Amino acid sequence: MTEETKKATDFGADVFGEEAIRTYLSKDTAKKLQATIREGKPLDPSIAGEVAHGIRHWAMDRGATHYTHWFLPMTGATAEKHDSFLEIKDGEPIMQFSGKNLIVGEPDASSFPSGGIRSTFEARGYTAWDPTSPAFIKRHSNGATLCIPTAFCAYTGEALDKKTPLLRSMQALDRSVKRLMRLFARPDAHVGCTLGAEQEYFLIDKEYWKKRPDLVLTGRTLFGAPSAKGQQLEDHYFGTIPDRILSFMNDVERELWKLGIPAKTRHNEVAPAQFELAPQFEELNLASDHNMLVMDTLRNVAEKHGLKCLLHEKPYAGVNGSGKHNNWSVAYGGRNLLDPGSDPHENAVFLTMLCAVIEAVDRHADLLRASVAGAGNDHRLGANEAPPAVISIYVGDQLADVLDRIENPKSAKHEAKGTLKVGVDTLPAIPKDATDRNRTSPFAFTGNKFEFRAPGSSVCCSGPMTVLNTIVAEAVDRIAGELEGAKVAGKAKPGEHTAAFHNALQKILQASLKEHKRVVFNGNGYEADWPKEAEKRGLPNAPDTPSALAALARKENIALFEKYGVMTKRELLGRHEIFLEEYAKKVRIEGACARDIASEMILPAVKAEYADTVRAFKDAEKCGISSGTEALKEDAVEIGAGLDALKAGIRKLEDALGRTGALGAAFETDILASMQALRTTVDTLEKHVADSRWPLPKYRDMLFLY
Ligand code: ADP
Ligand code: MG
Repeated sequence: MTEETKKATDFGADVFGEEAIRTYLSKDTAKKLQATIREGKPLDPSIAGEVAHGIRHWAMDRGATHYTHWFLPMTGATAEKHDSFLEIKDGEPIMQFSGKNLIVGEPDASSFPSGGIRSTFEARGYTAWDPTSPAFIKRHSNGATLCIPTAFCAYTGEALDKKTPLLRSMQALDRSVKRLMRLFARPDAHVGCTLGAEQEYFLIDKEYWKKRPDLVLTGRTLFGAPSAKGQQLEDHYFGTIPDRILSFMNDVERELWKLGIPAKTRHNEVAPAQFELAPQFEELNLASDHNMLVMDTLRNVAEKHGLKCLLHEKPYAGVNGSGKHNNWSVAYGGRNLLDPGSDPHENAVFLTMLCAVIEAVDRHADLLRASVAGAGNDHRLGANEAPPAVISIYVGDQLADVLDRIENPKSAKHEAKGTLKVGVDTLPAIPKDATDRNRTSPFAFTGNKFEFRAPGSSVCCSGPMTVLNTIVAEAVDRIAGELEGAKVAGKAKPGEHTAAFHNALQKILQASLKEHKRVVFNGNGYEADWPKEAEKRGLPNAPDTPSALAALARKENIALFEKYGVMTKRELLGRHEIFLEEYAKKVRIEGACARDIASEMILPAVKAEYADTVRAFKDAEKCGISSGTEALKEDAVEIGAGLDALKAGIRKLEDALGRTGALGAAFETDILASMQALRTTVDTLEKHVADSRWPLPKYRDMLFLY
């Protein structure tokens, strides 16, 4: 890093990266550690002691007194349990950190959900260092903690976290891509998987937030009539960033740069008070950890600015929700395999990968849908602005034409353009911007990467990325297997493939496209007709979390994850149970919170308004005043009717909350429906009660005053 960069950004100052490794470790140990990181291998135990010693010194030089194994439990958040370096030896306090403490931790952490994995085996949980994600320092106002990114498993080896399956899925993809590349006669090289996660979020002044128990407890507003002005004018999107927000963003970025996170882009989003932060893409595992830190940092820095950062998928009804676009691609030896390339040979690799992704998404759309399921995202998917719950792929018209020419080379409509033989003809130039005019697709090819747009803003990228890697690993593996079976790869060198090889490849891709092209949809995903058309095509449409999660328990999906060594049946079924339970609990918390707000805050305000109105009416009559009495009477009747509806609505919700049943059963639907009905009543009453009396900050305050 140049002095200029260092001075401007402090980039990576709080990361035990290359520079720290060189400074704090011996040359020999540094080399071994760097090889471990590069190759993703387990750490050589003989150097663990020195590495731990070096990391501690580095961390203490930065003010750290404690360390923690930092991991991603199934809750979707991050977990840490701090220990100090301090130890008493022979009555003397010393600072110490052993190799063993670096490599494994035993937080036990038995309160995390395990989906039955731990109760059956009574297995302790342990954490294991993942050297591919570097140690970093987390600061608080009067100190700092050394964080060591780890995987979290049961002693039986079963994964209890979101990182372990991700690492396994990367290995699966690595094996499949290498198998395919051998057939293309490419020399053995590193398979890199990359992720750039665009993060959307809302900001709200903390004073408003404090007055909204729904935001405090559930992350979203359960009540609130629309503001007269919402996002109709689209004047917020890409608008001038207000100074208070800009200084917040600056602080966020400085913190992220220190952590080695390449925050790159910032802008206002479509909804009022909504913003986006996009980093430059990185290796998948690291980028996924980094996104967890981005969310943490957004939340922490907001506090310092008197703001609250809302990462919920739909904090406000009636305006856009927040997503987290996962930009994903695969590279081989540093070359992006999703880049069309410039010659027929590169084109052939690209087209094979493209077809593999199409095949994967069509075969396992249900799994992709399951990977983005959650109580929050249910309010976003399929709403006016977000991709529908139907998973389809957008490739753009030009690529669609290319695919059609591969599938039907002899069709009359292609006559004028001539043939397109995979590996022989060059692809027509596909301008990058032409592939991304469509923002309505859940899964879009955007020039040299796929952008999975269905993930919600609060999701941990590991889930959707584990699924994507695994399903693509399967498709690539299948295509490679067929090519091997055709016995045509022979001894060809790059660029020297035989006609037989290209013929075989073309046939395989044709067959794949014929079977799977139904998942390609280049139209407008927001249109009401699309779900109907999707149904005709046989594409699955899981409208809510319980129906989406069912995919995790399907026989063919269990077989897939087991075949590629990503998750065992028990791990998968455990996850199914955990996510269903999480969903049910969230819905219940929302229901209880809505009931409490309605009965403790709204009801008293409405009663007071009603009482005042009735009293005023009586007083006027008593005094023999005739003007105004009609209006007062009308108001009293309207508010009275609202009051009755409110009381009935609360009872109905209370009733729904009292019912219990199997996980994922209809009782959650009842709670949600009762909440929605109650909301309609309350939001109507908001217009009948004096502003000064209304107990909750309104949409026009929360969305516009910051
Ligand atoms: P937009 O989708 O808004 O047009 P960009 O084109 O800037 O935005 O890209 C969005 C994200 O995609 C960024 O995080 C960027 O780093 C990432 N990205 C670009 N190329 C790749 C790639 N090959 N693999 C993964 N992510 C990528
Ligand atoms: Mg994008």
